[in-house]
Amino acid sequence: MQSFIMKTSKEAVHAAVKEFLTFVNRGVSPYHVVEECKTRLLNAGFTELKESEHWDIKPANKYFVTRNYSTVIAFAVGGQYKPGNGFSIIGAHTDSPCLRVKPRSKKTRLGCLQVGVECYGGGIWNTWFDRDLTVAGRVMVKSGDKLVHRLVHVQRPILRIPHLAIHLQRDINDSFGPNKENHLVPFLATAVQEELETGSAASGDACNAESTQEKHHPALIRLLSRELGVEPAALLDFELCLADTQPGTLGGVYEEFIFSPRLDNLHSCFCALTALIDSSTSNSLAADPTIRMITLYDNEEVGSESAQGAQSNLTELILRRLASTSDNLTAFQEAMPLSFMISADMAHAVHPNYQEKHEENHRPAFHKGPVIKFNSNQRYATTAVTACVMREVAGKVDVPLQDVMVRNDSPCGTTIGPILAARLGIPVLDIGAPQLAMHSIREMCCTSGVLQTTTLFKGFFELFPSVRSRLVVD
Ligand code: ZN
Repeated sequence: MQSFIMKTSKEAVHAAVKEFLTFVNRGVSPYHVVEECKTRLLNAGFTELKESEHWDIKPANKYFVTRNYSTVIAFAVGGQYKPGNGFSIIGAHTDSPCLRVKPRSKKTRLGCLQVGVECYGGGIWNTWFDRDLTVAGRVMVKSGDKLVHRLVHVQRPILRIPHLAIHLQRDINDSFGPNKENHLVPFLATAVQEELETGSAASGDACNAESTQEKHHPALIRLLSRELGVEPAALLDFELCLADTQPGTLGGVYEEFIFSPRLDNLHSCFCALTALIDSSTSNSLAADPTIRMITLYDNEEVGSESAQGAQSNLTELILRRLASTSDNLTAFQEAMPLSFMISADMAHAVHPNYQEKHEENHRPAFHKGPVIKFNSNQRYATTAVTACVMREVAGKVDVPLQDVMVRNDSPCGTTIGPILAARLGIPVLDIGAPQLAMHSIREMCCTSGVLQTTTLFKGFFELFPSVRSRLVVD
């Protein structure tokens, strides 16, 4: 730890964090995360491929493909790559727990115009109270006779879920768990103001509405159509996430913390993306016999079982394409045991106010490096083999590592790691930077984690082939 902090300037740490904050502040929905990845990949010379087209992949070239516009897989082909060689993969997820606008969202209660929302994933929902909220996501828009996919992000606070005053619930500080259907309905406007602004009171019932325009408050529809520069009648269907408008920022008296939404798991997405881009512009790609790849999936927070999730066939289809050759029909099968996947997802740092929640010998701390996660019950996929490979890489790039395992009497999270280990049959390591307040609307981590994780991931891409060649397992 000392060595990394002492050898790394505060400027370098903050430069990495600044880039990360730009990324996380733009990544307001999985669609916006993919959009931001796409922009960065195109700027770095990656070529976009479509699943529906034929691919002509060449060594020393870089490509990416998206599915559902919420999952992205990008890869840089080593200059020495041949079908049958391994893949060096870092996987993470683009989604975070959030509230999402219901398909029929219009609610009017006691003169308040409200928006019905659905809980997506396992959020700490009480943190969504008293925040300045907005909406971001994707909208299908009618353009001529085309049905067009567009992204939208309203940049100002338009929604709010106010707390009930303490005077009306004296026990709120003992335990606060809102009823997820009744208490999490945000305010959009009052009926009085709506009438002043538009000359007509909000009306109609969303339950029997037939058009998109009638299923939601006209004020919301007008706002979305203005943002998109289309007529309200052009809005078809949409998937809108609620998001906090307060941007992620540096914090702490020494600016050593990051206070931000969506650290889980845009921190890992950012580090994986940056490592792939940086490592593939270095000379090391020309000599690499593997394909370096990042796989950033949607829907991890709800179990990964979707067309674009980690449980889908997407990864295997792409790996098979890249390994396929007419003169070796088993190239894919030969490639899997030579491959390696880092399942990158955030880890729980020990909380000084709740230290008894951590196993006594496994208490990850801020600044002390990315955390390898272990669980023999296979909630995490790390094995002795994958852990020692990562320690070898970390030693060479001088990044400290920590280990974590939950207490036997504690529940344990899980990741895409075990899913991909099972689906592909490849060695997987679970690892992530330490953070606090996971699944709160506003989480917290340390600044050094961004540069440490990026350095480790870049080291993995550049050094894995040589470490793998020294591995004797059979
Ligand atoms: Zn996560």
